Amino acid sequence: MRCPNCGSLDTQVKDSRPTDDRAAIRRRRFCANCAARFTTFERVQLRELTVVKKNGQREPFDRDKLARSIYVALRKRPVEPERVERIINSLVRQLESSGETEIPSDMIGELVMEALASLDQVAYIRFASVYRSFMDLQEVKHEIDQLLSREKRG
Ligand SMILES: [Zn+2]
Repeated sequence: MRCPNCGSLDTQVKDSRPTDDRAAIRRRRFCANCAARFTTFERVQLRELTVVKKNGQREPFDRDKLARSIYVALRKRPVEPERVERIINSLVRQLESSGETEIPSDMIGELVMEALASLDQVAYIRFASVYRSFMDLQEVKHEIDQLLSREKRG
């Protein structure tokens, strides 16, 4: 595994253990060249999924890309990475078990919004503002009102 810090291939696994939900193996790795430590997750690839974008373009589903968009929304929010990994796993499982191999990008966006709404409301608004490309503050306010009324309903 190439070191994400210096690019060296001289890295070692220091520790391997299953995640809490047993869906993945978490490995702590160490770079012998620059002494960086990093973590990788190993999981089963159940099936190849294709994402169909609004303009009809198709691209292979990329778990890392999904994870990045979620981590960007959660930047500096007090949410543990293990919890985020569980949510990403559950999203991917939902997609893989939907019975479809072609998934509309809209559906993925809605699933992520659903998951973020119950995880972290600030992250939800951040993600929604990119995903739904809010045009003005009124739309942001509308989204926040929705979130608050949803909270009241429990
Ligand atoms: Zn390194």
